[in-house]
Amino acid sequence: MEKSSGQTSLQMPASEADETNARVVIERCGSYNIAEVSAAIQKSLSPFGGIEAFVRPGDRVLLKPNLLAAHPPEKNVTTHPVVVEAVAALVREAGGYVRIGDSPAGSIKGIKRFWRIAGLSEVAEKTGAELVPFETGAMPAKILNGRRYYISKWVAEADVVINLPKFKTHNLMLFTGGVKNMFGTLPGLQKTDFHKLAPHPDDFAEILLDVYKLTKPALSIMDAVYGMEGNGPAAGASREVGLILTSPDAVALDVVASFLMGYDPETIPTIQAASRRGIGVSELKRIETSPSDLERLRIPDFRLPSNRKIRMIPRPVLNAIGKAVWIRPVADPKKCIGCAICINYCPVEAMALINMLPVIDYKTCINCLCCDEICPENAMIQKKSLLAKLL
Ligand code: SF4
Ligand code: SF4
Repeated sequence: MEKSSGQTSLQMPASEADETNARVVIERCGSYNIAEVSAAIQKSLSPFGGIEAFVRPGDRVLLKPNLLAAHPPEKNVTTHPVVVEAVAALVREAGGYVRIGDSPAGSIKGIKRFWRIAGLSEVAEKTGAELVPFETGAMPAKILNGRRYYISKWVAEADVVINLPKFKTHNLMLFTGGVKNMFGTLPGLQKTDFHKLAPHPDDFAEILLDVYKLTKPALSIMDAVYGMEGNGPAAGASREVGLILTSPDAVALDVVASFLMGYDPETIPTIQAASRRGIGVSELKRIETSPSDLERLRIPDFRLPSNRKIRMIPRPVLNAIGKAVWIRPVADPKKCIGCAICINYCPVEAMALINMLPVIDYKTCINCLCCDEICPENAMIQKKSLLAKLL
């Protein structure tokens, strides 16, 4: 039964590394068949004491999938609805009241279309979960590191938050996983404002860690049955991975997932920021994994973003060579339908529609790649300077 709103409480934020949580369980899962996904998730939860270790009868449980934009499940841009369904069913069996929510880019004008296209409306019908629009309210501002965050009221009204990220690359942040997924708890235009405030990945990672710290989910279950390789988080290619990853520590989860992709986790901006701030466990050697032999699960030919080498150049070096080494978004006229969604979402108004094609003022552009993320046609491509191509 749902608890009264008078019992509102924000979960305790993480303040320092908690080694007891440095455990990541990886289970094989070969398809989005509900029985197979449910069995894999239950097996992955078993070493932690099952879902009952996180959810008590009567708890209001918020599931936070990755609903980046309005894409159908088979594109693997969003957390697959079968994963959400399996977790929702488990939570209900444990006596929890399930809500599902996210604040995808562009949902300020209405989110029902996003739920329908991503398969979440069907999940709600099947499981009795409540879909909650994050745009309908925020809790009073939380101030952290001098920044003001208005987090969705649905986070505050949850006794337990369960994070359901997707295994994907990310053009700007190299990798998108558990920590970054919680950024979607900021409703409305705050997300674009933060891109504007912190265009550099290292600075943006600090914001992502703030939001993670303020919303800290009790549990993260990553959909890596199919992931996205190449130029994620929206314009990459689907890739069969065949795994479910589970951990109470989203930082540790990200360390393991990024390692499986082929990264050195210490090069990922969110993991670097977590390490600097002592949030979660960010060193692979301090994380207990099951199975323990990660090398066997690593995907040797997983395609990473084409611009990752430039993203890894230290900032002072990049500042010095910035005029010669650049990557810029540009609309592909063969794919662009001139819908202007990207233009309306650009945080610095650097775009204009000319002859039904977005044209970017690169003096104003902060290279946040929001236009790339939000484009429903995957029409934004990354154009590189000659020197950047050589890197
Ligand atoms: S690039 Fe994408 S979002 Fe922008 S106008 Fe073209 S189709 Fe629309
Ligand atoms: S043009 Fe694209 S990359 Fe540049 S600031 Fe606007 S949304 Fe960001």
